Amino acid sequence: MARYTGPVCRLCRRENMKLFLKGDRCHTEKCGVERRNYAPGQHGQARVKVSDFRTQLREKQRVKRTYGLLENQFRSYFVKADRMKGVTGETLLVLLERRLDSILYRLGFTSSRSEARTLARQNHFLVNGRKVNIPSYLVRPGDVITLKEKSRKVARFNEALDGALRRGLPSWVELNRDAFEGTVKTLPVRAEMTTPEFNERLIVELYSK
Ligand code: SF4
Repeated sequence: MARYTGPVCRLCRRENMKLFLKGDRCHTEKCGVERRNYAPGQHGQARVKVSDFRTQLREKQRVKRTYGLLENQFRSYFVKADRMKGVTGETLLVLLERRLDSILYRLGFTSSRSEARTLARQNHFLVNGRKVNIPSYLVRPGDVITLKEKSRKVARFNEALDGALRRGLPSWVELNRDAFEGTVKTLPVRAEMTTPEFNERLIVELYSK
């Protein structure tokens, strides 16, 4: 299945939740969910029959769409999380947060994960001083991510960094704004992963059927 390239606010409206897919706009009153808090399409305001399966499926779609993954990619993260020690749902979320594109977004180098994916592929970043251009690269605690020297004057990076600093960064990462350098201090724990708010247990139930 091909990657979704349509209007991303529709995805949030479908999930009835802000997934923060569009950068600064997500933090303003122009946000699609704020303006039209119902599902998109002709039958968007129709009553929907609620079932366990539907609830579990929607939760999976929320997480998958937030991280911009295809079904098979998402499933392989689940399989990996299931084989690792710990609570599967939490491990899954930590794995997704460890992706380079997600960390670039969390550090504020980009205003969305989809932008991070594109810019990572375009060789703008170093991890521990070495070129890494794979958005799915899994970072480790202690890794240092740097914006390349020649990219530091690019307005979109500076605007994204300033915006992120205004809103505040998650506690598990640290940014040195002057050096265009971010550090992954630790892996996030579940209590720190609150934006957006997911119920990962439902995903485990869905895939355990
Ligand atoms: Fe659009 Fe962002 Fe609001 Fe989602 S959170 S509806 S992507 S503006």
